[in-house]
Amino acid sequence: MRQSQAFIPTLREVPADAEVKSHQLLLRAGFIRQSTSGVYTFLPLGQRVLQKVEAIIREEMNRIGAMELLMPALQPAELWQQSGRWYSYGPELMRLKDRHERDFALGPTHEEMITAIVRDEVKTYKRLPLVLYQIQTKFRDEKRPRFGLLRGREFIMKDAYSFHTSKESLDETYNNMYEAYANIFRRCGLNFRAVIADSGAIGGKDTHEFMVLSDIGEDTIAYSDASDYAANIEMAPVVATYEKRNEPPAELKKVATPGQKTIAEVASYLQVASEHCIKSLLFHVDGRYVLVLVRGDHEANEVKVKNVLDATVVRLATPEETRQVMNAPVGSLGPIGVKEEVKVIADHAIAAIVNGVCGANEEGYHYTGVNPGRDFPVSQYADLRFVQEGDPAPDGKGTIRFARGIEVGHVFKLGTKYSEAMNAVYLDENGQAQTMIMGCYGIGVSRLVAAIAEQFADEHGLVWPVSVAPFHVHLLTANAKSDEQRALAEEWYDKLGQAGFDVLYDDRPERAGVKFADSDLIGIPLRVTVGKRAGEGVVEVKVRKTGESFDVPVADLIETVR
Ligand code: ATP
Ligand code: MG
Ligand code: MG
Ligand code: MG
Repeated sequence: MRQSQAFIPTLREVPADAEVKSHQLLLRAGFIRQSTSGVYTFLPLGQRVLQKVEAIIREEMNRIGAMELLMPALQPAELWQQSGRWYSYGPELMRLKDRHERDFALGPTHEEMITAIVRDEVKTYKRLPLVLYQIQTKFRDEKRPRFGLLRGREFIMKDAYSFHTSKESLDETYNNMYEAYANIFRRCGLNFRAVIADSGAIGGKDTHEFMVLSDIGEDTIAYSDASDYAANIEMAPVVATYEKRNEPPAELKKVATPGQKTIAEVASYLQVASEHCIKSLLFHVDGRYVLVLVRGDHEANEVKVKNVLDATVVRLATPEETRQVMNAPVGSLGPIGVKEEVKVIADHAIAAIVNGVCGANEEGYHYTGVNPGRDFPVSQYADLRFVQEGDPAPDGKGTIRFARGIEVGHVFKLGTKYSEAMNAVYLDENGQAQTMIMGCYGIGVSRLVAAIAEQFADEHGLVWPVSVAPFHVHLLTANAKSDEQRALAEEWYDKLGQAGFDVLYDDRPERAGVKFADSDLIGIPLRVTVGKRAGEGVVEVKVRKTGESFDVPVADLIETVR
């Protein structure tokens, strides 16, 4: 590509609203431009990196027998109603209506869509297991889109889904995916770590996240300094067990998932809690614990909670208020919303339930497995939020350290969550209908581009690893006015291209200083400068990463850049 014909709008100034290195550099070096909050154009250089990353992902997916398809971003609400997520997903789900007033969502993920497709087409065990993936645009109306491509509202994801007849088969695919993910991130040159994403402390290995280690990461990882143990401290709540039943009520399980919650959902927790004799709920709001007392005699409970963590006790609900809450229409918080602390929940709608600190007034109606210190020793790290640096690691090897990470991938054993809700069944060897067992596996492809930029940059600009660089060689002339230099550069532009190298040739009539600065900013791994020694057929090759440079006779050029 000739730079005179290319579209690489570089900026001298650091854009004011770009806080982190990758965002600043991707803007300055002309890889991306913002359209609106959390929505970006990939300019030609950005698009080339994206395509390189996608090619690596496709290779590794295809290698483990996953097949690519492409599903629509526009999804009918009915699918989301079947899974129940139309009601539980919250404001991150982008919803719209068509001209006939029919409801749609712009897919934030595709479990519903793929489950419907496989349900309608696969009827027998003979067609399973099946592993499908796509690389596609996703939409999530993030509360705080930020850091450029790292947290967008429109972004590119590789999402894969697998369907099985047995847990063993799911385990096998899960392990293959795990390995494929490790290969992908390794091939991108990244310093990353796979961490237990959920239920880790209880020993579960049903979900892992792949974290690129970086100080600007939004996730905190607790890891052992002496073993492979590593986990995201953003863990799911301990699932309550109801003494009088074998299983906690389904409604409670449904609400007791971490993540953003709407006011309507918070109101429905209170309702569910109240209906199940739960006296209090603990929320995690903007980094603080907020205890909402729902009903009954709370004082003992309050003391217990205070002993375990630094919770802000909001207030006691009076019997009259409790009744009102229970009768309040979904979508209102009722009288509980009067206090400042709960207003935080209401205003920002981000309350995430972390632990139902549950009790009951009647003998035998308690929930167990929910109260650290009461139901399990805090030292078991049933919840890593209680862990401190220097504590012994849960696997007994070494001590806990903390690091920050950017979540670039997530693998998850779903089980029958979606297949059950959406009736994805097959006939087994005996002609019996069975529910499919599923897994899902995501990579934030556009986030990955930014994560690479975050790890590979210096004070002069980006420093792309060869595997994902937009071009392999940046060719330029030191003196654009020199016919001799231009002739040699033109000749080697052709020859390098013929030898299979991706070459960006800076043929612009700019000063050498401008070209060098742009070249450092863009970060192509090798720079070939045709300069003063052009007459002798000697050029300078400079390695972007190390800064080392050496003179090379053009006859050796192809061998040198290879
Ligand atoms: P996060 O915790 O960062 O919000 P997530 O856990 O909600 O991510 P998943 O549902 O696991 O995301 O989606 C799979 C992958 O998609 C994530 O591992 C991440 O790499 C990427 N991803 C998720 N949200 C965004 C976003 N807003 N912008 C860019 N990439 C994203
Ligand atoms: Mg998210
Ligand atoms: Mg996450
Ligand atoms: Mg995730």
